[in-house]
Amino acid sequence: MPEELLLSTPDLPSSLYIHVPFCVRKCLYCDFISYPYSSDGESEYLAGLEREMALWEKNVAGERWTLSTVFIGGGTPTCLSSGGLGEIITNVERHFNLAPDLEYTVEANPGTVHRAGLEALRRSGVNRLSLGAQACCSNTLRTLGRIHSHQQTVEAVRQAREAGFDNINLDLIFGVPGQTRAGWLGCLEKIIALRPEHISAYGLQLETGTPLCAMVDDGTLQPCDEDLQLDMYYAAIDTLQHAGFEHYEISNFARLGRECRHNLVYWHNGGYLGLGPAAHSRLDMRRLANEERLDNYLAVLAGGSLPIIRCEELSEQNDIFETVFLGLRLSTGLDLDSFRERFGVTLDQVYPELVARLSGANLLEINANHLRLTRRGLAVANTVMAEFVPFTKS
Ligand code: SF4
Repeated sequence: MPEELLLSTPDLPSSLYIHVPFCVRKCLYCDFISYPYSSDGESEYLAGLEREMALWEKNVAGERWTLSTVFIGGGTPTCLSSGGLGEIITNVERHFNLAPDLEYTVEANPGTVHRAGLEALRRSGVNRLSLGAQACCSNTLRTLGRIHSHQQTVEAVRQAREAGFDNINLDLIFGVPGQTRAGWLGCLEKIIALRPEHISAYGLQLETGTPLCAMVDDGTLQPCDEDLQLDMYYAAIDTLQHAGFEHYEISNFARLGRECRHNLVYWHNGGYLGLGPAAHSRLDMRRLANEERLDNYLAVLAGGSLPIIRCEELSEQNDIFETVFLGLRLSTGLDLDSFRERFGVTLDQVYPELVARLSGANLLEINANHLRLTRRGLAVANTVMAEFVPFTKS
């Protein structure tokens, strides 16, 4: 596809995501794009990523992008060498302007961090650390195939604090085979005791093709009962709210003012640029997807082109659905005034009677002109959101 057409005067988004496609070892539940780390792979990837940044900069010549959020995720960014991760950060500064109030997040695995590396990150401007704690009990960590212990998570948080991080997220997973309600509650207490500013808690999804899914399919592991997983979810909401966290998105909890600004861009259906293999972007009314395989990604960049394999022009109907779908993920809900301003119509005009029907079933409610899921609706969020899919209604 001609890049001139693709890149014609995009409304430059101020959020950047960078995908690092390496991990020490694949976790048993993971279907993200990641490869075993090697120093040769790191060098090739870094060179490719720098080319990708340069190409984007060249294609929007005349205007430099100013970023207000950067998120380096993966994969495991901290399995790169300190110098390698530092090179990415330096190259971001070379090719983009950084806003003074930049939120700069790096994802880290507790098994791959050390004090000196964390200090270097903090010195280079990274101000938010997202640690994949996932669980506290060793059985659950083993079932997930994680490379670290809970004690390493405790150490990682301590070292991050010493390095100067005052904004730390801890990721958790519930509904793991063998996990009990009591074990989950105990884990939440241990995580709260670490005093993070932000916690993400996701129900385990058994992804087809992963070893964990295969072990459930062949009966080696018993899957978590659906009712138990739901019970764990509500227990997390109650426990974390009681501990002073705001439940601001379906799976995310934050201390006051510590919501993840980068992810809020996604949930408000805003624009962002994604770099690295398998990264996605939203630019104006286009969704772009990068080559998923590292070798293809590198080969296209070596030939001087952007590694984009898919460009989808969003219809207004799809844009509306995505805005509703993502807005309902937020606890404040979908801002109905902003919706009318963005699309020139009210939600009721687009979906006549649907909101009334779902509100009547106590799945949705309107509060301060925001449409949001009720506590009952949270349990069946995907079903409620599917009601807004275009073309499913006659
Ligand atoms: S560390 Fe994260 S990205 Fe890497 S294999 Fe595990 S879950 Fe997947």
